[in-house]
Amino acid sequence: MGKPTGFKEFDRKKVEWRLPVVRLEDYQEIYTHPTEEHLKTQGARCMDCGVPFCQSASGCPIQNLIPEWNDLVYTGRWREALDRLHKTNNFPEFTGRVCPAPCEGSCVLGITNPPVTIKNIENAIIDRGFEEGWVTASPPISRSGKNIAVIGSGPAGLAAADQLNKVGHSVTVYERADRIGGLLTYGIPNMKLDKGVVQRRLDLMAAEGVKFVTGADVGRNVDPKQLQAENHAVLLATGATKPRDLPIPGRNLKGIHFAMEFLTANTASLLNSDHKDGKYISAEGKRVVVIGGGDTGCDCIGTSLRHGCSQLVNFELLDRPPESRAADNPWPQWPRIFRSDYGHEEAAQKFGSDPRVYNILSKEFIDDGNGNVTGIKTVRVSWKFENGKMNMTEIPGSEEIIGADLVLLAMGFLGPEHYVSELLGIETDPRSNYKAEHGRFATSIPGVFAAGDCRRGQSLVVWAINEGRGAARAIDIYLRGHSTLPAPGTTLGSALATAST
Ligand SMILES: Cc1cc2nc3c(=O)[nH]c(=O)nc-3n(C[C@H](O)[C@H](O)[C@H](O)COP(=O)(O)OP(=O)(O)OC[C@H]3O[C@@H](n4cnc5c(N)ncnc54)[C@H](O)[C@@H]3O)c2cc1C
Ligand code: SF4
Repeated sequence: MGKPTGFKEFDRKKVEWRLPVVRLEDYQEIYTHPTEEHLKTQGARCMDCGVPFCQSASGCPIQNLIPEWNDLVYTGRWREALDRLHKTNNFPEFTGRVCPAPCEGSCVLGITNPPVTIKNIENAIIDRGFEEGWVTASPPISRSGKNIAVIGSGPAGLAAADQLNKVGHSVTVYERADRIGGLLTYGIPNMKLDKGVVQRRLDLMAAEGVKFVTGADVGRNVDPKQLQAENHAVLLATGATKPRDLPIPGRNLKGIHFAMEFLTANTASLLNSDHKDGKYISAEGKRVVVIGGGDTGCDCIGTSLRHGCSQLVNFELLDRPPESRAADNPWPQWPRIFRSDYGHEEAAQKFGSDPRVYNILSKEFIDDGNGNVTGIKTVRVSWKFENGKMNMTEIPGSEEIIGADLVLLAMGFLGPEHYVSELLGIETDPRSNYKAEHGRFATSIPGVFAAGDCRRGQSLVVWAINEGRGAARAIDIYLRGHSTLPAPGTTLGSALATAST
């Protein structure tokens, strides 16, 4: 274990982010580089629990070997820590940066003290691995002669491709966008996950033999039946890309966009031309209202602030979460508490207060007379638990108009688009996701599998990795009758999964 008395001696200390006032000036990552001593001290806090809840049950969906690498970092054995980390996680440099860390919510130390800084330690191990040159391409020694098509290049498709390639199958990943990475590239902004970090991993995978095809919109310009005929198996990893709309009067006014229209164009323009091409929706000088929270809402806030918006408000329909766990939300569940993410901190820095307004319902978008949005008619609401469910009531007399020149809808996603599944004749479940059982990942069509957000609904990067790894094993068993690839965990992170994005 770390240091037997470490958890008593040392306080939790997270790796600092760059100061809001500084980081608002650029699109570089928000993180700073921790010292080795800092990480050693934080690793020392791990108690090496007999039952490490961090890596089981409601903790880490990919069962990262957390107490082992906490100890290895404490004792300075970084190379071994890296090897342990890669055993369970294909992409720790992604989760180390963007995961909300359900492991920390389940850490046993968290019952009485602030939990171990697991996520920071994970990120430091993989960053050090790259810095030291320990992470190198390792192509399979032999090929199986089996071809697999993966449709969609987000973390689910990439994790599956990586695992299948490791055991010698020939994998081609088809992506409709002009860059590989799914939401790692075109959803999560650069300040949270640098696109160079994504490309570095893609280059490694390519060097190991994974083929990537961009601009391949399967079902539109690539025939899925042909992919089925030319491959021994097909994996659908197309994500949950249908956004939830807000169909209130005025929805068709100019200046109202889905969050992903805003975020995707911003990153594309940033990567293509450092924003010089002007091919993005600018928030400069505008009064911005972001409707909806979670990671997507926060990313819209951070991006709007960097554009130079003149005002920023973030609507939340629900109650403000409590400061500490409520009685019905005990450890080791994910703590449903009030948190401030990077965008909230930055808005407070720029405008002097947190941008979030709770218990507010949008009723109508107001026209400026020329077809542009100029405000939102709102009403305050209250929530009460009655007859087994939460019921919302509008508060009379609380109507208000909030000015807005740019409205960003960040209200979650409703599942995958269906043009591929319809052509293949894949069954869907009642939530409109591709129907396939976790663990088997087999759809209703033999040889066609599904993993990630298109199967489980909008979720997290770490769950996409869990599903990609699991689908790889299922496909390997389908092709060979057995597999040496590990089975995915089936822990229950779904409450967190749906709450977060
Ligand atoms: C703005 C935003 C921020 C987020 N932030 C976080 C975060 O900080 N932490 C976290 O853990 N999770 C976060 N998430 C959630 C996380 O990104 C997703 O859960 C995860 O990316 C899902 O992975 P996936 O591989 O299933 O799908 P995706 O990443 O959505 O990838 C699916 C890919 O399939 C492609 N595709 C779809 N249809 C086709 C087709 N017919 N042919 C070819 N390609 C196709 C899409 O273009 C896309 O590239 C965020 C989500 C959003 C929207
Ligand atoms: S639950 Fe926390 S203290 Fe226990 S082993 Fe995991 S990280 Fe260490």
